[in-house]
Amino acid sequence: MKPIIELKDILTPDKKILITTHHKPDADALGSSLGLYNYLKQKNFENVVVITPTDYGAFLNWMPGNDTVIIYEQKTELSKSYIADADIIFCLDFNALKRINEMGHDVAASKAIKVMIDHHLQPEPFDDYRLHDTKACSTCELIYTFINTMGDDTLLNKDIAECLYAGILTDTGNFRHDTTTGNTHRIVARLLDCGVKSDQVQSHIYDNFTLRRTQLIGYTLAHKLEYIPELNTSLMVLDRNEIKHYGVLTGDTEGLVNWGLTITGVKLGVLIIDRKVKVKMSFRGKGDFPCNEFARKYFNGGGHFNAAGGESDEPLEVVVEKFKEYIKEYKDILKTKSN
Ligand code: 5GP
Ligand code: MN
Repeated sequence: MKPIIELKDILTPDKKILITTHHKPDADALGSSLGLYNYLKQKNFENVVVITPTDYGAFLNWMPGNDTVIIYEQKTELSKSYIADADIIFCLDFNALKRINEMGHDVAASKAIKVMIDHHLQPEPFDDYRLHDTKACSTCELIYTFINTMGDDTLLNKDIAECLYAGILTDTGNFRHDTTTGNTHRIVARLLDCGVKSDQVQSHIYDNFTLRRTQLIGYTLAHKLEYIPELNTSLMVLDRNEIKHYGVLTGDTEGLVNWGLTITGVKLGVLIIDRKVKVKMSFRGKGDFPCNEFARKYFNGGGHFNAAGGESDEPLEVVVEKFKEYIKEYKDILKTKSN
């Protein structure tokens, strides 16, 4: 596959562009997609569409361009025709086609040029052009780099900047993770200069919960948080009845796992949720615990060193039991406190 700079001559306004991102998009996934969408609109492209494999949290609906997003699960035939007709498909914030569910087969079969822009480890080679950097704090940072690489820094506007700011903000955990660098802040400074109001974006994302979502956090922390002192690990498990009782919607459990890391010394925070089809797991680590290795080895997952996820087809109780067994393998890493 070729480096992204070589796309410059091919990326012309007559091209039919499709932008997609991973299922259940978070702010970095949707922000990078709509950031790129707004950039191409600014560049006078007429045929640009964003298609997400599934829906996403309502706290992202404020993003400029959100009204135009097509959801593959809900408009499958229309989505398939866009995918088949596209000249260029941008694949953002994922690097393996299984991350876009059934849509992956259509993308693989499309004659379109495929462009991967991503910051996750172990990319799979389904693309023709690639901008990939595991050190990037977010895919939104890479979209900023992409716009610059295309020589279009002057095209940045508030719409683009708001989308990119949201992804950088959330993927760095509000500038807390060690992926946050001087460059991150220089980019953010440029985005703020475009007119982004940080307080407004943060309010859209963090002060936009339903009452039930906030109550679910309280319930989980008060009643479902297990602390395993010898492994400096915190574990939260939610079963189907609890998910139903709190009317959990897409995006409602986002960020919940991070609460486990707030306890002094904790090195690993885990959230296990019995979703309708599979049991989903989230791992968040501090220091030297390899979340992605653990998720890959035992729970068919992956992700970053400090933030990873996995899944299982087995019953919730079995998954929890297995987690508690497998995690003992890492007791030498986990027995020392994080701070
Ligand atoms: P989350 O816990 O927020 O769902 O995911 C955290 C990180 O792990 C994300 O960067 C995501 O890409 C990755 N991740 C989550 N679930 C999976 C999975 O099932 N497979 C893989 N390969 N990565 C995952
Ligand atoms: Mn990301």
